[in-house]
Amino acid sequence: MQDPHIYQAAEIICSVKRVTAFTGAGISAESGIPPFRGPNGLWSRYDSSVLDIHHFYQDPVRSWSTIKKIFYENFQAAIPNAAHLALSDMEAHGHIHAVITQNIDNLHQKAGSRVVIEYHGNSQRLICRKCGRLYPVTEELLLDLPPLCPNCHQVLKPDFVFFGEPIPVKAHQNALRETRASDVWLVIGTTGEVFPAASLPLEAKSRGKKIIEINIEPSSYTPQITDIFLQGTAASVMSELNSWIRKIDVLHAG
Ligand code: NAD
Repeated sequence: MQDPHIYQAAEIICSVKRVTAFTGAGISAESGIPPFRGPNGLWSRYDSSVLDIHHFYQDPVRSWSTIKKIFYENFQAAIPNAAHLALSDMEAHGHIHAVITQNIDNLHQKAGSRVVIEYHGNSQRLICRKCGRLYPVTEELLLDLPPLCPNCHQVLKPDFVFFGEPIPVKAHQNALRETRASDVWLVIGTTGEVFPAASLPLEAKSRGKKIIEINIEPSSYTPQITDIFLQGTAASVMSELNSWIRKIDVLHAG
């Protein structure tokens, strides 16, 4: 049965000036990329210390061999699902101002979203922390591990935030701007337990913004700050939400 709250959420989204989406690992689950935690999470199969920044530079060969397996073999072929596509369509029709994502899988960008705030970086770039140069990931760069900077021969690191690393300043500033400027936050597929990212919807709520949440199960946000909780998979709920939004647009146009 359809959830009547989806129509209510669509009406709210169509009635405000600015909506920000805030996404977590759950939005990419239906693209075949599991979350980190939970019974089927990545950390039930792999040692999370490979993403610890100190460990990475102490033993880059060991870290890189697991990182390559997870991010550049298993997930490289993943494609955006209906939820990523719905967000990009909503942006194209003026209903999403920006997507702030905790994900590093590049799927919002692949889906066509133009304003994507990469709060934890992006796995599709490698960075040399010595000279600061960025390189798009290629098979060639990952043939011999660890990959080395062609410019200064230092170990290259995926350009996403490892445990023990700070959030990129610009991404954090841009995300904070959204907590002030947006009327509604659409929070999709995140537990709300990974800080400081998790504090963004809390900050938005403290500024009086409306929180619409989509998740297969209640998160730590649900009892605390969520105004409308839409329970279901990101792909199914977002498709339905977007189709209501398009219908409301047609009504308003006529
Ligand atoms: P999480 O792993 O802590 O939680 C995932 C959330 O998604 C849970 O609340 C779960 O109930 C929900 N969920 C699972 N399947 C769903 C579905 N089909 N539809 C809707 N919701 C669903 O994820 P997190 O809170 O994003 O934090 C983990 C951190 O790990 C993130 O910061 C992110 O950077 C990183 N991460 C990224 C990826 C990726 O890039 N795809 C994958 C795993 C982890």
